[in-house]
Amino acid sequence: MFITNSKADFTLQYASPSQLYLSTIGLVPTAEARQRLHTCRAPTTMFVCGIYRALQYYLAKTCKVTSHCQRLPVWAASRRKHSISRQYKAVIFDMGGVLTPSPFKFASEWKRQNGLQAGSFWQDLLSGERRIAWDQCMRGEVTIEEFVKMCSKKHYSVQTSDPVQSLLLEMTNYLSNQTCSMMREAIQCIRAEGLQTAVLTNNFWFKGQSFLPLEKNLFDVIVESCREGVSKPNPEIFKRCLERLKVCPEESVFLDDLGENLKPAAELGISTIKVVNVATAIQEMELILGFPLHGYVHGTQAVRKGMEIPTANLKKYLQTTLGIVSEEPLVLRTFSHGQSNPTYHVQNGVHQLVLRKKPPGKLLHSAHAVEREYRVMKALGAVGVPVPRIIALCEDPSVLGTSFYLMEYCPGRIFKDPTLPGLTASQREDIYVEMNHILCQIHKVDIKTAGLEDYGKCGNYMERQVRTWTKQYRASETCVIPAMERLIEWLPQRLPKQEKITVVHGDFRLDNLIFHPEKPEVLAVLDWELSTLGDPICDVAYNCVAHHLPEDFPLLKGMNNYNLKKLGIPSDLEYLSLYCDNMGINPIENWNFYMAFSFFRVAAILQGVYKRSLQGQASSNKAGDIGNLAEKMADLAWMFAVREGFRIFNSMPVGNPIPPVRRYSTWNRQRTSPTSFLSPSLLDVNHCRLLVSVPKGHLIISPEGLPIRVQELYHMLTDFMDKHVYPQEQELVNHQRTASRWIPNPRVEELKNEAKANSLWNLFLPLETDSEAKYGAGLTNLEYAFLCEVMGRSLFAPEIFNCSAPDTGNMEILVKYGTEAQKRQWLLPLLEGKIRSCFAMTEPQVASSDATNIEASVVEEGDFYILNGHKWWISGALDPRCKLCVFMGKTDPQAGPHKQQSMILVSMDTPGIKVIRPLSVFGMEDPPGGHGDLLFENVRVPKENILLGPGRGFEIAQGRLGPGRIHHCMRLIGYADRALELMKERVKSRVAFGKPLAEQGTIKADIANSRIEIEQARLLVLRAALLMDTVGNKEAASAISMIKLVAPNMALHVIDRAIQAFGAAGLSEELPLAHFFGWARALRLADGPDEVHRALIAKLELKQGGTVRSH
Ligand SMILES: Cc1cc2nc3c(=O)[nH]c(=O)nc-3n(C[C@H](O)[C@H](O)[C@H](O)COP(=O)(O)OP(=O)(O)OC[C@H]3O[C@@H](n4cnc5c(N)ncnc54)[C@H](O)[C@@H]3O)c2cc1C
Repeated sequence: MFITNSKADFTLQYASPSQLYLSTIGLVPTAEARQRLHTCRAPTTMFVCGIYRALQYYLAKTCKVTSHCQRLPVWAASRRKHSISRQYKAVIFDMGGVLTPSPFKFASEWKRQNGLQAGSFWQDLLSGERRIAWDQCMRGEVTIEEFVKMCSKKHYSVQTSDPVQSLLLEMTNYLSNQTCSMMREAIQCIRAEGLQTAVLTNNFWFKGQSFLPLEKNLFDVIVESCREGVSKPNPEIFKRCLERLKVCPEESVFLDDLGENLKPAAELGISTIKVVNVATAIQEMELILGFPLHGYVHGTQAVRKGMEIPTANLKKYLQTTLGIVSEEPLVLRTFSHGQSNPTYHVQNGVHQLVLRKKPPGKLLHSAHAVEREYRVMKALGAVGVPVPRIIALCEDPSVLGTSFYLMEYCPGRIFKDPTLPGLTASQREDIYVEMNHILCQIHKVDIKTAGLEDYGKCGNYMERQVRTWTKQYRASETCVIPAMERLIEWLPQRLPKQEKITVVHGDFRLDNLIFHPEKPEVLAVLDWELSTLGDPICDVAYNCVAHHLPEDFPLLKGMNNYNLKKLGIPSDLEYLSLYCDNMGINPIENWNFYMAFSFFRVAAILQGVYKRSLQGQASSNKAGDIGNLAEKMADLAWMFAVREGFRIFNSMPVGNPIPPVRRYSTWNRQRTSPTSFLSPSLLDVNHCRLLVSVPKGHLIISPEGLPIRVQELYHMLTDFMDKHVYPQEQELVNHQRTASRWIPNPRVEELKNEAKANSLWNLFLPLETDSEAKYGAGLTNLEYAFLCEVMGRSLFAPEIFNCSAPDTGNMEILVKYGTEAQKRQWLLPLLEGKIRSCFAMTEPQVASSDATNIEASVVEEGDFYILNGHKWWISGALDPRCKLCVFMGKTDPQAGPHKQQSMILVSMDTPGIKVIRPLSVFGMEDPPGGHGDLLFENVRVPKENILLGPGRGFEIAQGRLGPGRIHHCMRLIGYADRALELMKERVKSRVAFGKPLAEQGTIKADIANSRIEIEQARLLVLRAALLMDTVGNKEAASAISMIKLVAPNMALHVIDRAIQAFGAAGLSEELPLAHFFGWARALRLADGPDEVHRALIAKLELKQGGTVRSH
């Protein structure tokens, strides 16, 4: 049943408030407006004096209003009196009677229609016990269905079967379809001005959920009594709402249709509006807030003070010059987006136009040339580039004070957030592909045909750009930015040698494109202010700026910490590659130069905006903040300049190149054997295209010098560490202290899955062992060194990426020496991370640093070998996932010293293997893998489990001690680098004896020494890795031993200094330092004692020609 009267009533109340607003827009309310104000307030009960509100509005329009409400505890602030100069931050709405029609009115009408007696239905219904039940219902203690059951129908002499049930059913049906469009628009206007909105409603559970027929995305906070267990008018519920909004009472406005709910709000200090009539309530809100609450257009806000334009002149111009006539008054809003040329939405009756003009005030020469925008858009529109339809250019300053042009308003989607929330991965990809396509379309325009030959100077574009932006920067400089100074010197020296000339947009970004409302199709490219003729790669680089900005970058949301692959968004390099394909050009070598220039330009623009904001001319109130970011952008630009420097450095031939003893036949061609261990993304066409080889024999000394594919892995890995590993370290350490520490932590398993899904898996297997990249990522030892160092920064990381010892060494053995059956049984599950393994060599009774001493026996018996021996320090043996032991023992004690030992694969569940006890390093047990003290008693192992054959254990040990040997060293660099990083943070903030520790000379010396030692050790690791890649493990033996000696000792020094700088905290488990120290110390033994390495280096040194000395 539908109640017509009630609906009519409701509709009537929502009359337009625009008349009143327009009459007051002249700052001082006119007599007529005052009269209207007076009249319209008449039916409204106000808790805040109306005169104050009018004054507030006046002040808001004429002066810069600042908040007087500091960040006091919410309830201390609430006791203040109303301030007339408030700056509101939030508006709180009741639901029924405010956002939806009044349920009370509905109920009264329903009662009348059902022939019930006069009087309030609710008073009648909600009295006595039913009132108590109703209150319970509002607090969520009973559902509305239970409430209905509690109300007996016998109390009502109506014809319906159950009046309460009928009423509630009809009421909920009715309210569900009746959200108020005027309030909706008011809310959009409020949010466009940056204020928050909230719903604060007494509500009930209905059909298993709360009854909330609203668009939830219109509100920052929703507070419902049935969820809170508290209902209005209890002040507690208001306090909760304010707390969630994080505002003081004085910073908020509350609208309700019930006086009893407004009273406690007003007592707290909230400005209140009683909603008797929605239109009137909106008018009141406009007065309080100081901006209009109608005429909303997506992406716009009210015209700010100082940005008004003479509407009468504009109206006249539209009418007389352009013949755009309308009786309606002009309604103007500004587009909130964009910092440069103010852009207005102009509603002239049915006509929706966009006006773009120069900002007022003194401007830098050649900036804000709207005439050029007009020209290029007109020309490009004519040759099919999607741009808004241009209407007219007016250069007569008597109209609006500056030149301006008009275009048609083009409705569609503008994506301000480059991560495209709410879209699927494939939709995102489509959007980026379309953007790329449109950019190419612009760059493919024939300048002659478009009549744009003289649109810009031809040639030396980048040189001129660097000069122009340097000049612009100098003209708006407010202080010295060191990175800008370096860039100003560096950029002219690195200018590209050859340039193509096309139309360039100059500010080509996703949020300057209007997309079709449903399709991935660009309808219009906006903001041509910086367009000219020039080097198109500039546009591509600028288009990728968001890829390198942080998420919280205020002007343009960045995506530098997002997993773009998961989102379906191409990385900057993939985007560039797509562009090159679309344009049919070769890959761009000096991409980092263009990125450096892009950020240099951003820094210069921001500096200009900042300076203008200091002069009060910027077209956005965010300008001041933005200007402060100029310095950060300059730093980012310099980072790319450094990368470019490394690229050039790495591509220079070294003085004495190492002869390429080994050739990797697969290196320069596409890999064709994808397996389940590699993500397809690593093998796709684009990646293979980017698989540019680094000349063999060249030392890469920074990640920037790595081939692009490896750089990408490096960045993905560092992102993963930032996002997933470091934040969880403490939790993982805590697990290691619990009773269940010997059970693998499920969180680690989750992280492993995540890493695998991100292709960060089995990166360790060197190309040399796995030449077809069948099992691993196909990296060289040198490439992996950079990644392994990153993993070393957390003790938990190596396992997460399936790159931890002793599994890595064992997997290498299996790849190299395992039979197909052995690979199936052990290698595949290890590669998948499903099982773990251990390596059993060391024995307590003999000096195991000399492997010839190993005594365990491996005796043949029919089809089996019988193993007997005592092994200790067997890492990983205690892990319940440990299913494989690579066992070393003597098969023939009579053979020559290096022919006695064999290696055999033993299933850990074979009878006869006993764990005597877990061993610990400085008390650290390293669960769940631990280090086991194990007895092997008559362990029967099938003969086919022997590796390579009897007596070949030494041979395998040499192989195993190849790449796997320097992984620890790579990780130790990571330990040390992280320790130094933590130390630097600490000493900057810790104050002792009146100054930060960082200012103490000894601390500075410690930092400097640590940095020097890290860099030295890193170079030695990289050199060892390079030699392993180029001359082989045997030839690289001396280099390997050197680094195995240097790395743990270096790490111990650096970590020790960091511990000292932290004071007692350095020894605690809250920092990774103590653990790092413990493991670094253990590694002076675990990979062979220092002395053994030293002895080998000396031996090779003495043996002339025994090592590659010149490298
Ligand atoms: C944390 C940790 C994990 C380990 N994990 C494993 C594992 O998974 N599997 C495994 O089999 N083993 C493992 N080990 C054992 C490790 O490999 C041995 O401790 C190492 O090889 C040294 O053998 P050893 O302890 O018997 O010392 P010894 O051989 O008894 O040597 C003792 C000391 O003698 C001195 N020395 C030895 N040779 C010389 C020389 N030529 N010149 C001068 N001085 C010399 C050195 O100072 C040396 O430290 C691990 C050890 C640790 C600490």
